[in-house]
Amino acid sequence: MPTAALITLGCKVNQYDTQAMQEVMLRNGYTIVAEHDPADLCIINTCTVTNTADQKARQVIRRAIRRNPDTEVLVTGCYAESDRDAIAAIPGVSLVFGNREKADLQKYLDIVHESWKEKDCSPLLQIDPVHHDAVREHANFSMSVSEAGKHTRALIKVQDGCSAFCTYCIIPYVRGRMTSRPLSDIVREAKQIAANGYKEIVITGVHLGAYGLDNGRQQTIADILEHIHPINGIERIRFSSIEAMNFPPDLVDRMAALPKCMPHFHLPLQAGSNKILRQMRRRYTTEQFSRLVEKLRASFPDVGVTTDVMVGFPGETDADFEDSLRFVEATGFSQLHVFRYSPRRGTPAADYPDHVPPHVSADRSKATIRLGKRLEIEFRKQMLGKTMNVLVEESCEGPAGHLAGFTDNYLRVLLDVPDSAVNRILPVKLVALEGEFIRAEAANGFHPETD
Ligand code: SF4
Repeated sequence: MPTAALITLGCKVNQYDTQAMQEVMLRNGYTIVAEHDPADLCIINTCTVTNTADQKARQVIRRAIRRNPDTEVLVTGCYAESDRDAIAAIPGVSLVFGNREKADLQKYLDIVHESWKEKDCSPLLQIDPVHHDAVREHANFSMSVSEAGKHTRALIKVQDGCSAFCTYCIIPYVRGRMTSRPLSDIVREAKQIAANGYKEIVITGVHLGAYGLDNGRQQTIADILEHIHPINGIERIRFSSIEAMNFPPDLVDRMAALPKCMPHFHLPLQAGSNKILRQMRRRYTTEQFSRLVEKLRASFPDVGVTTDVMVGFPGETDADFEDSLRFVEATGFSQLHVFRYSPRRGTPAADYPDHVPPHVSADRSKATIRLGKRLEIEFRKQMLGKTMNVLVEESCEGPAGHLAGFTDNYLRVLLDVPDSAVNRILPVKLVALEGEFIRAEAANGFHPETD
């Protein structure tokens, strides 16, 4: 039986795509092995969101080839869209294909299998790369998933691509135009996932709030929630990340009426200065962002609001940066992901004047990370003593002998419960901060024979 390893870099949309490709491999009789184990075939699903992501993709590809020179290495994903020639030039790469061609994986496998039969294992299969105009095209939704591999929470991709064209962002150029997946497909996939025993669904996409804009807003992301909510077996629903722009005006009220919707929102802010937001073409102001956060807080008790902040955007002065820090602090995010701006070829911001020197953006990044840590600790301290539900997960990066999971509002907790608690939703009391985690105790004890 042939073996396959699948390696994912980047965001949850890529994780979903890898899961869909893995299911194609399984249907073809492959045994899936761990990322770094020797395999007959290795698929690397890349990211290109920053220069560092490109560099990491090249490293991962080279390492996979070095580790096993006989592996057939297939490379796909966003970096394969943005610079497929650079990937094809790496000796040992068998095939490069873009995001839309992921749905053609079966065709590529047939070619690989044919070459194996003919013992024609050339280092490069020489399948002509598909060159297309990614920015004008729509996503392909012909792949689907029925489970979540080794994860306890299952991702469902409901849209792909983006037509917002924020000035620093490469995504619209590599994932194509914003495309909504038909609601009936999404519901069918959610039912399948529930039937396979998953309790939590994470709704995933590049720009979730824009769902439906490409077909005149006949449906919005709120309709997806209302259709998935009644499915038996699904107990929790959350978004991976949702932009403040195109946030449907009735979404908060409609979500608040659906108890399975979790009180956690990842709202990428990027900058807390209106001048910089305008230059980023983010289409919201800090005032509008604040109003949205206030509405979330009023509708969902203990809501966790996490965000992304980019520092060192071209033209960001010390005063703009101070504005950003003040805004981030006042908003009281429960977690920050901090990025340093890096120019992406082909995006408008790459040609802007007044690029911020690297040592200045490094200092700003450190200061923002420090603030983020402080806010995170403050938020977690406020939650101590409360009782919350946790979906217990299989894997735990914490101390051996403990299980971990996320609270409804997305706090990572550590639990001293037996393995039979995995995939159960338990009420727990949050008792103490412990590194990245909160130590929690099963609120009513845990009784495996009755729970
Ligand atoms: S909303 Fe802006 S930052 Fe997000 S993917 Fe679209 S263009 Fe990129």
